[in-house]
Amino acid sequence: MTTAMSARSVQHFIAGAFEDSAESAPIDRSAPATDEVVSVVQAGGPVEVSRAVAAARAAFDDGPWPRMTGMERSVLIGRVADLIERDAATLAALDAEEVGKPIRLAEGDIAGAVGLWRYAASLALTMSGSTYTNNGPDFTGLVLREPIGVVGLIVPWNFPALILSQKLPFALAAGCTAIVKPSELTSSSAQHIMRLTEEAGFPRGVIGMVVGDGRAGQAIAEADGIDLVSFTGSTATGRRVLAASAGNLKKLSLELGGNAANVVFADADLEDAAAGVVFGVNFNNGECCVSQPRLLVEDAVADDFVAEVARQTALLRVGQPMDPRTDVGALIHAGHREKVTSYIDGASGDGAAVIFGGTRLTEGELGRGQFVAPTVIDRVAAGSAAFQDEIFGPVLTVTRFHDQDEAVRLANGVQYGLANSVWSKSVDTVLQVAKRLQSGTVYANTTIDAPPQMPFGGYKASGVGREMGQAGFEEFTELKSVNIRTGKRAGTFAIRAGA
Ligand code: NAD
Repeated sequence: MTTAMSARSVQHFIAGAFEDSAESAPIDRSAPATDEVVSVVQAGGPVEVSRAVAAARAAFDDGPWPRMTGMERSVLIGRVADLIERDAATLAALDAEEVGKPIRLAEGDIAGAVGLWRYAASLALTMSGSTYTNNGPDFTGLVLREPIGVVGLIVPWNFPALILSQKLPFALAAGCTAIVKPSELTSSSAQHIMRLTEEAGFPRGVIGMVVGDGRAGQAIAEADGIDLVSFTGSTATGRRVLAASAGNLKKLSLELGGNAANVVFADADLEDAAAGVVFGVNFNNGECCVSQPRLLVEDAVADDFVAEVARQTALLRVGQPMDPRTDVGALIHAGHREKVTSYIDGASGDGAAVIFGGTRLTEGELGRGQFVAPTVIDRVAAGSAAFQDEIFGPVLTVTRFHDQDEAVRLANGVQYGLANSVWSKSVDTVLQVAKRLQSGTVYANTTIDAPPQMPFGGYKASGVGREMGQAGFEEFTELKSVNIRTGKRAGTFAIRAGA
């Protein structure tokens, strides 16, 4: 590991000011493609979190933000969208460098982030409840929708700016104040977005950020002054967040791990499906919660289809994240690369065979980084670790099926339930399978393809709650029933017998 001359400093943003940690030593972050230290991140913990909570609490309880009109909030959120668009190249470069993802994908993430801020700005205008007038002439029931309060937003490393944008503008649109906690591995774009919110003119304390590792996240999950935590990360950490949040019974939204299947029927457009399968597992280096590492393919077309998938996999170019020709970049860190290759090593045997890739790439300039060849493993058994676990790398397992029942059983036969794809030209097959799949998202004849209006979240061990869409916005709200009687109450409260 070497330290670049120009390593960035990433600080907390508390009560409108950027600052260092009072006590803990900062964390060095090396770019996964070069092993050079590119950022030095302050390590926050309970001290910084409690100060950020105090600022966000004051901004919510006494400040202007929750009391502004939806239109006023919408204008400020929309202004951030414009500023992110203005600084798109800078933000994309930060994420590409720290994640190790190809720059073209990072640019797509930032365009997606702009869309999310714009969409959330429009939702600020829609905040509404409902009215019941069908309980007699003297009763009116008002269901008021209110911001839930102070929210903690914990973000993983794989889509730093994008996942932050799946949370923060929606919370703001609802009138909440927020504390962001990016991953210690990829905090720089979050710091840049904090600066943009300052430039946009958000009132002091409405948005704060504590950077650092799990200690900062744990302090957010435990904080009594926080009303909701929206967490995206692994299922194991999600369980810790759930336990830590018990103190004040805060509301939780948990977006957790996935292990999606691409279910390909013999009657699919096999050309599109093969391209979709190769995209679905290699997009973002395979480090994507909705990655599709499991190909389930119907027997009748399996041999030819798998050969085509292997052929297209061989065309992928592994390379430096900043090179626009790169299709697959570096994995997030050495430990993760070890984990990914251990699944490849463990998958052989029991009839399974690596038919493409399967190695760490060490030639030339790739030798300094965490590069793994896109890999295809054929004839993987449903009980194997490679099939069951979230590998989170560019590794495709192939399993064959005979009929729809077996396809659905295989697709649903893992603990996760975040997303799956079904490929068939038959509308019957598509709808029947979509209804039987246990996942919060089903892509039909497409993959990893979701506009911000579509709610997103998991079944089973993939999580609780929804992000994006109207449902994602409403996660950041609380309902209050106001039960109103009109007219004289005489005789209504006759608790004493005969009164
Ligand atoms: P992670 O669980 O290790 O970390 C996620 C975040 O939680 C980081 O900011 C981390 O610092 C913080 N954290 C760590 N320990 C904590 C604790 N005890 N309490 C509170 N916060 C803590 O996940 P990761 O490795 O950053 O991300 C990869 C995982 O995220 C994968 O499992 C992936 O599937 C999942 N993911 C899910 C979605 C989704 O929308 N469902 C999206 C992206 C990633």
